[in-house]
Amino acid sequence: MAELWAQLRKFAKNQRVRIVLWAALTGVIVGVTTVSSPLEDVLSNLRWSLHEEKASGHLVIVEQDSQTLDALGTVDVNRSNDADVLASLFDAGASRVFFARAFVTTNDQAGDEKFIRELKSHPGRVYLGAKPGESAPNYTARIPPKRYYQYARVVSLLAHSNAFNLSVTLPLASDSPLGKIPSISAEIAGKDGPLDQFYTPDYSIGVKTFRTVSYIDVLRGKFDPAAVKGATVMIAPTALSYNNIHSVPGQGLAAAEVYFHAIGAETLAHGIPLQLGWLPPIVVVLIVIGTGLGRGRALDVYRFTGLVLVFVAVPFLLDMVRVSVEIIPSLVVALVAVIRMRNLDRVEVAGETNAGSGLPSVQALRNSEVLSPKILVALKIRNYGAIIGSFAEHVETELASEIVRRVRISDEPVTVYHEGGMFIWLSNIRSTFDLCENLEGLHRIVQNGIQVGGLDIDLSFNCGIDSEFDRPMASRIASAMQAAEEAVRNDELVYQHDSRRQEAQWEISLLTSLDRAIDNGEVWVAYQPKLDLKTNRICGAEALVRWTHPERGPISPEKFIRIAEEFHRIERITRFVINDAVRTAVELQRMGHNLTISVNISAQLLRNPGLPGMIADILAEHGLPPDRLILEITETDRLDRSSRTYQMLQRLVRSGLRLSIDDFGTGNATIDYLRYLPASEVKIDKSFVSSMEANKEDLLLVQSIIDMAHSLDRTVVAEGVETAKALEMLRGLRCDVIQGYFLSRPVPFRELVEQIAQPKVLKIG
Ligand code: C2E
Ligand code: MG
Ligand code: MG
Repeated sequence: MAELWAQLRKFAKNQRVRIVLWAALTGVIVGVTTVSSPLEDVLSNLRWSLHEEKASGHLVIVEQDSQTLDALGTVDVNRSNDADVLASLFDAGASRVFFARAFVTTNDQAGDEKFIRELKSHPGRVYLGAKPGESAPNYTARIPPKRYYQYARVVSLLAHSNAFNLSVTLPLASDSPLGKIPSISAEIAGKDGPLDQFYTPDYSIGVKTFRTVSYIDVLRGKFDPAAVKGATVMIAPTALSYNNIHSVPGQGLAAAEVYFHAIGAETLAHGIPLQLGWLPPIVVVLIVIGTGLGRGRALDVYRFTGLVLVFVAVPFLLDMVRVSVEIIPSLVVALVAVIRMRNLDRVEVAGETNAGSGLPSVQALRNSEVLSPKILVALKIRNYGAIIGSFAEHVETELASEIVRRVRISDEPVTVYHEGGMFIWLSNIRSTFDLCENLEGLHRIVQNGIQVGGLDIDLSFNCGIDSEFDRPMASRIASAMQAAEEAVRNDELVYQHDSRRQEAQWEISLLTSLDRAIDNGEVWVAYQPKLDLKTNRICGAEALVRWTHPERGPISPEKFIRIAEEFHRIERITRFVINDAVRTAVELQRMGHNLTISVNISAQLLRNPGLPGMIADILAEHGLPPDRLILEITETDRLDRSSRTYQMLQRLVRSGLRLSIDDFGTGNATIDYLRYLPASEVKIDKSFVSSMEANKEDLLLVQSIIDMAHSLDRTVVAEGVETAKALEMLRGLRCDVIQGYFLSRPVPFRELVEQIAQPKVLKIG
């Protein structure tokens, strides 16, 4: 129940639903107050004018026309004339005669008696008009005198003219001092109806299609009796001087009152018109609008055109079967709903596109209340304002589309939303790790500047990501944006929302399992062989630690080494790796291979005075000469001769160990640095090696490192050699040793032994 209530409230809060409700209310008010009826009349007049029906011919109208009055030389006919006309009509075989006029004026007695005699001789076949006003007190004066009506029947001539005389409606019966009397049209058609029920005659029945005879001709017997034989006759004043001419709806002409009653009688002959009123059309309109609601924008132009057609066509068809509807209130409903919804659409569209770039706005994404299982990326262009400010207007659109194009290169066709300097999208890349790599790639591309409208624009960006899928979109967007700002502040490419908290959790869980992992064999050591380019032989191998986590799979050493360093657990790992490496070297020696084994020593450990002792202990335990072991250290720029690290390096070298400078070229190394470091080997960082094939500058750098190292008598190792071409280039540059995937990936000891026996490259070569 509470849920239902909540649903209802949500429904009522929906802007579109509210519009429909308001439109419906407006329509009902219009309907109830009948303010629209003049318009309604205009419309029905229009419909009536579109087709003409013919009168049945059962009715004959005897017109007291101007010809009659002229011939008689009076302003009106008298009772004696009426008596003669009655006699003449009944002689010709008329079935019933209706006086469609009131009998109020007094007449001479002789004529009066003659008329009464005539009434007496046709009992029940003569009908006298009573013309009651619309309010009761007027009846008395307007009904025929008793001496007439005791021999005849009385019918009401009441007609109701609508506002602006746009239409005339007729009753089925009227109240009178004689009680309920039928209206003339109802009586002619033989229909009985309740008091005060008005109907609208079918004005498509043409006035001109009724058969008429002039009163004077009937009076003088100068007419064709066949014309009235068996017919119902209406006698009525039609001369202009009677002043009862009204315009006929939909026919563009004026006619005497009798024609309204005649048309009414013809209408009723087919049945009492059914008046459905204004409610059913409103219901139909609401259904039409309502069916569109669920599908977003409820009422498009097509649907509206359809509605208008229905409003025009259906009433027209209904008219044919004498069913009338009032359509204005429903038109009002449709109009109100359409106009307000189109406004809403416009506002929404405006709110959902960024005016500057033409991209969907971030607001549009906020509005979508869906939960998404995708990582949300917020890319913040740092100098966006400056770029937009300093170039022509169209630059923003082009710049935006360039950014979108580049984002899509690596991240499938995602929708990119835009707001200020922020570009936001839901990435298709599932893992945070891959996504970060991707963003790094994007960063590299963009770093070199992008071309927009013939201009080179320097871009720099930072990203925030959010992967809390169960949170609402709007708050995830806020988080990602905030993370992007934080990334800017900390000068990092990517920042994850709440990443510190999450990282910390992950790190702690890694740390707590690290010791166990070492003990139970999840941590192991892989060896990547090094090839001597002069002898074409495997001359050594680098020991690289591996952690294969039972649930998470392989964990990158870069990641857990950094954590281990931060939490001072690196010693334990290094001891484990050196122990394995030394054992391996001894094993290989036993097999007849005299190889050096390299191990990586993190800078932090170099500050640990226990390091030389630890290494010495291990070497001694396995009986390996120290010059078989190479310690790889990564160049750091804080290394001066007085530092503790420098002194440590000296100690290690003095103990007979060899040193190698790892990742050379990535820091601030100078020739000076290389000169005073007691290292026997230099390893050129893999980033230069892998790009030297394509990039001339990197090639020059590699070459100068090699030359510089040789001039100082150092051995040069190129790491990250992935292709035969790179290998040949390095050979050409007189590099001493190479290491890389082209030769072998880091492999377990057993495979290393196979490699040494028959290196893959040599097999190929
Ligand atoms: P590093 O000492 O520079 O090791 C070389 C890295 O390059 C290794 O990554 C290796 O797998 C990778 N590599 C080798 N050949 C290629 C190649 O052709 N192409 C490419 N793209 N990469 C190649 P790995 O094993 O992920 O190690 C990453 C880093 O982690 C190492 O860089 C090293 O700094 C550190 N590390 C690894 N093991 C240990 C360890 O036992 N102790 C310490 N302190 N650090 C370690
Ligand atoms: Mg290394
Ligand atoms: Mg390296």
